[in-house]
This record gives sequence, structure tokens and C-alpha cells, in this order.
Amino acid sequence: MSNEIAETPRDAGTASSMITYDGVDKVYGTDPSEESVTALEGIDLDIERGEFVSVVGPSGCGKSTLLHLAAGILEPTNGSVEINGASVQSADHERKEVGLVFQQPVALEWRTVRKNILLPVQILKENGAIDGDMDEYRERADELISLVGLDGFGDAYPNELSGGMQQRVTISQALIYNPSVLLMDEPFGSLDAMTKDELNLELLRIWRETEKTILFITHDLDEAVFLSDRVVVLSPRPGRVVDDIEIDLDRPRNEETRGTERFVELSTQLHQHFKSLK
Ligand code: ADP
Ligand code: MG
Repeated sequence: MSNEIAETPRDAGTASSMITYDGVDKVYGTDPSEESVTALEGIDLDIERGEFVSVVGPSGCGKSTLLHLAAGILEPTNGSVEINGASVQSADHERKEVGLVFQQPVALEWRTVRKNILLPVQILKENGAIDGDMDEYRERADELISLVGLDGFGDAYPNELSGGMQQRVTISQALIYNPSVLLMDEPFGSLDAMTKDELNLELLRIWRETEKTILFITHDLDEAVFLSDRVVVLSPRPGRVVDDIEIDLDRPRNEETRGTERFVELSTQLHQHFKSLK
């Protein structure tokens, strides 16, 4: 790749890194008149292309902050955040590299599922940020409807959908530009346990089929173990990386995975570690 040549040497990350945090601190309220809050401290984290990494940590430890830094919504106070080798802050960073999914569905009630999925494209088009063929995106929206298991619901309105189905719409929205990275902030946190388990399986299928890199925030430790290649544990605020656990469960994972001895072992280890943090 030609852009590797001109780059300044990096002391973090490797050629296969997709998301790299290098010495990142985030302090809120740096204005002298404000009270400052150090949300994150000394974050070094390297997420490989195609990896599924979850971040867990006590409430208020800086998980959302970590994600917003990768999305370019926030700037680090110190250190740098790179996506696919480009600083998130730099002008050459492609916003379209990153898709975001938050806990609350973002579908507009007066637009159909298909039109909701196309919403991010329409906004950028109106801002003049992209040109190109709307028909191409319409086709992509239809593919996504299929990918996330919403066949037949393209013309439905959000209030005709269950909470789980609405979150499927949100995932499609995040995928409309075919980003390399999906950033997900407790996406299934407001769903009932059964729907959540179902969407966990669906997300793993989508991840497998699309080969995205996923950074997934959750406060559900079992969900983190079930989904991930690695689970990163943050300390109470200021959030520091205190553990990085490799999840060596076989893939593809399925309904039986949670009953395996290894799952129980890893989950117990994570729960115990978590208790010792407080
Ligand atoms: P989490 O997602 O782990 O619950 P957050 O990243 O949302 O944690 O927040 C980390 C800490 O930073 C919290 O103590 C929160 O109150 C504080 N914080 C978050 N956003 C702001 C902000 N805009 N201004 C000041 N403090 C903030
Ligand atoms: Mg949060």
C-alpha cells in the first residue's frame, strides 16, 4: 500500500492494526474555570483488522469516552488514536471507515426502514460531503435489509418493529458506507435477555460475513466473553487498561457455547476480576 511509505514511524500498532490507541489520556473540563475530570489515562490498545474486541468496566470508567475517541467525536488530551493507520484527527481520515451503533435505536418514526437505512447517506449528500449515485445506495440498503434479517420489512415503519428489530435497523445504518470498523456502545443494553442472545448470534454472523473489525462496549461480562476474541477490562475512573483477556472459545459460537466448561471458566475469571476492581 502506497500510503505506508510516507508515514512517520510509529511506536505503536503493526501493519495489521485497525484501531490503535497510543498513550491516550482524556481529561474533560480542561478550561481553568471548570472542574476537570480525568476519564481515561495511559490507554495503549491495539485492535487488529477483523478482530472482535469488547471493553468492560464499571459505570463511569470511560468506556463511551474510549469509543467516541475512535469515532473522532472527541479528541484525546494526550496521545493519539489511529484507524487504519491514519490519525482520527487528521484531515485525511475517512469518516466513512467507521460505523457507529449506540444503545438507543436512531430510526426516525416517519421514515420506512429502507429510508432510515439511507438516512446517513442523505445527510452527507445534502451537506455536499459525498456525491455518487443514490441508486447504488438504495441497492446496498436492500442488501443490508437482507443481511440483518429484515427481509420483507423494508417498507415497514419503526413503530411496527420490536426493539430487537429496531436495533437491526441501526446496525444496517451503521453499515451503509461499508465501513471497516463498527463501534458499538452497549447496543443491546436495553433489550430483554432472549432478544439480546438472539442478536448476539446475529451480530457474530454479520461479523463473519462482512469481516469487520468490531469494538464493542458492554457492561454484561457474559456477553463480552460470548462475542469476543479479547476482552479488555478498564479500572474505575480514571479508566486504565487493567486486563486484556484472550477468549479462546471455538468459532463459530452457538447456543451451546455458553454451556461449555471453557465458557464458564472464562466467565468466572472475568466476574472475579471485576469484583476485585471495586
Ligand atoms: P462509561 O461509558 O464507562 O459509563 P463515560 O465515558 O461516559 O463512562 O464517562 C467517563 C467519565 O467522564 C464519567 O465520570 C463522566 O461523568 C465523565 N464525563 C463524560 N462526558 C463528560 C463531559 N462531556 N464533561 C465532563 N465529564 C464527562
Ligand atoms: Mg457509557
